[in-house]
Amino acid sequence: MSEAEGDRIAELAKRRGFFFQTAGVYGGVGGFYTYGPHGASLKDNLEAAWRELFVTREGHMEIDAPTVMPESVFAASGHLETFDDMILECPDCGASHRADHLVEDNTDIEEAESLPPAEIATTIAEHDIACPTCGVALAGEPVEEFNLMFETNIGPGTASPGYLRPETAQGIFVDFPQLSQYARNQLPFGVAQIGRAYRNEISPRKGLVRVREFSQAELEQFFDPETDEPPLTRVADVSLPLYSATQQAAEDGGLQELTVGEAVDRGVIESDWLAFYLGLSLDWYASVGVDMDRFRYRQHRPGELSHYAADCWDAETEIGGDWVEVTGFAYRGSYDLDKHADYSGESFSVFEQYDEPVTVERPTVDPDMSELGPRFGGVATDIADALETRAERDPDAFDGETVTVEVAGDRYTVPVEQTGFAVETVTESGEHVTPHVVEPSFGIGRLVYTALVHAHREDEVDGETRQYLALPPSVAPTTVGVFPLMDRDGLDEYAQRVAGELRATGLSVTYDDAGAIGRRYRRQDEVGTPFCVTVDYDSLEADTVTIRERDTTAQRRVPVDDLGETVLALRDGDCRFDEL
Ligand code: AMP
Repeated sequence: MSEAEGDRIAELAKRRGFFFQTAGVYGGVGGFYTYGPHGASLKDNLEAAWRELFVTREGHMEIDAPTVMPESVFAASGHLETFDDMILECPDCGASHRADHLVEDNTDIEEAESLPPAEIATTIAEHDIACPTCGVALAGEPVEEFNLMFETNIGPGTASPGYLRPETAQGIFVDFPQLSQYARNQLPFGVAQIGRAYRNEISPRKGLVRVREFSQAELEQFFDPETDEPPLTRVADVSLPLYSATQQAAEDGGLQELTVGEAVDRGVIESDWLAFYLGLSLDWYASVGVDMDRFRYRQHRPGELSHYAADCWDAETEIGGDWVEVTGFAYRGSYDLDKHADYSGESFSVFEQYDEPVTVERPTVDPDMSELGPRFGGVATDIADALETRAERDPDAFDGETVTVEVAGDRYTVPVEQTGFAVETVTESGEHVTPHVVEPSFGIGRLVYTALVHAHREDEVDGETRQYLALPPSVAPTTVGVFPLMDRDGLDEYAQRVAGELRATGLSVTYDDAGAIGRRYRRQDEVGTPFCVTVDYDSLEADTVTIRERDTTAQRRVPVDDLGETVLALRDGDCRFDEL
C-alpha cells in the first residue's frame, strides 16, 4: 500500500476510534490492535451482514468453539507439521523478516510464498537484498521454516500442550461427528463460525492486514461429492472478475469477466461448489463497502496451495496498488475429516440412507489359512487381505483356476478354490460417505480495513476541504447524528427526544450539541455517518426536522413523526434520499 494511503487511514483510525495499536503506553506490540468505538461497531456490522447471508439466508448452523485446542487437533490437521512461513534473521541487528516478502518487495516476483526456501535464499543473494531494518546485506543467510501457531500449556505444567487456533475451521472439523447429528446426518449441510484466530506472524504489517490476532468468519460446507450439487442456477448469471492460475502464468494474461455459468462450463472454476460461493459472495462484498472496481477473484497457483487445499480462489481487494487477500475459498476435499478419523479412530463419515433398500451382489473371500499359512509363512495374512481387496475391485480375476495378488511388490499366485471366493446377494439400506468440504474463509479485519480505505473521500464543501467515509449506510458505525441547532430555547430537549425515539427503533444514533453545526456535520462525515438530523426553530412550530445526506450534503425537511421509518428505509436501501 502506498505510505500516504496507509498513514492517512492509520491517522484517521486512531484519532476517531476505529482502531489503534494495543498497549501503546508500553510501546505497543506488533500485530495487536484494539478496535475503538467506531471500529468495533463497523466490525460488528460486517459480522452481522456476514451472519445474515451465511447463517440466516442460506440456512446454515452456527457454532462457537474454543480458541485453545489440544495438540492432537493440530497434529491431525497438519498445522503442527506444515503451518510455516519462511523466516530470515538479520545477522547484524537480529530483526526477523519474512523471506518471501523480502523477495516480493525487492524483485518483480509476485507470490514468492510458492517458492522453496533454497530458491528464496538464492534470489536474496542474486538481488543483493539488504535488511530493511539496518541495511546489512542478507546474501548467504539461511532461510528457515517458522511455525505460526502460538503454543501454550493447558493446566499447570507442560504435560498437556495446547495451541491457539490458527483458523476457526478446526473447531468445526474436530466435532464433525457431533455436528452431523444436529444436521440429522443429512448432506449437504454447512457449519459457520465467527471468532478469533491467532497466527504468530513473522512481520506484521499494513495496519489490520497482517496481524497476530484477528477475526475470521468461516463456513464449512459439507457435501457428498458424488451426488450433491449446489443450487448453481441461483447465481449462474452473476458476473465474476476472475484471475485464474492459467491467466497468471500466461504472458499477456489478465482478468476474465465470466458469469458463474460460463466459468463452470469452460472449466475455469472446476468445482461447482466453489463457483456457487464465489457467485453468492460477490454482491455481499459490494454491500459492505468494497469498491468492486478494486476487487478480483484470484486462483492460487499450484505451489501456493495450503497443505489441505486441492483448489483455492482468493477474493482480493486493491489497497494502494497492492492486492490483499480478504477471503480464501478453498476446496478442502475430505482432507480434514480423513485426518481426524485416522488420528482419533472415530468415524467422520455420514450414513446416507437410500430412498429404497437396494440389493447388491457383494464378492467376498474366506481364504483357507490352513493351506495359505504353511505355503506362504509370514506373508499369508497380507495375501489374505490382498485377496479381499482384489475381490472387491476386480471380482472377474477369480473366474479362472488361479488368482494373482501383489504384496509389497512381490506377486503371489493362489488357487481360487483356496480363496473361498463367493458372490453374496445382500440388501443395503444406505452407504457411508465421507463428505467433501468447500470453505469460504473471510478475514473480518481485512474487510474492515478495505471498507475504510475504499470509502475514504475528499471534496470541498463551503470552500473547505472535507474528509468523509462513503460507507454503505447498513454498515456505517452510526446511522444517524442528531443535533439541536442551538443548545437552548427548547431545541435541546426536542432533539434529545428525537434521538431517544430513533434509538427506540433500533437505530444507532449519535447526539452532538457541541460547536458550530458545520463542524458537527464534518465530525459525522469523517466517521461515515450517512444521515444527520437537525432540530431548528421551525421544528418547534411545525414538527418537522431537516435530514442531511452525507455524500451529497443535500438536505430535506421531513415530518418528525415519520423520521424513524424514513431513516430505517434509507439505511436498508428501501428508499433513496432524492425520493424523500
Ligand atoms: P487463510 O486460512 O490463510 O486463507 O486465511 C483466511 C482469511 O483470514 C484470509 O483471507 C484473511 O482475510 C484472514 N487472515 C489470514 N491471516 C491473517 C492475518 N495475519 N491478519 C489478518 N487477517 C488474516
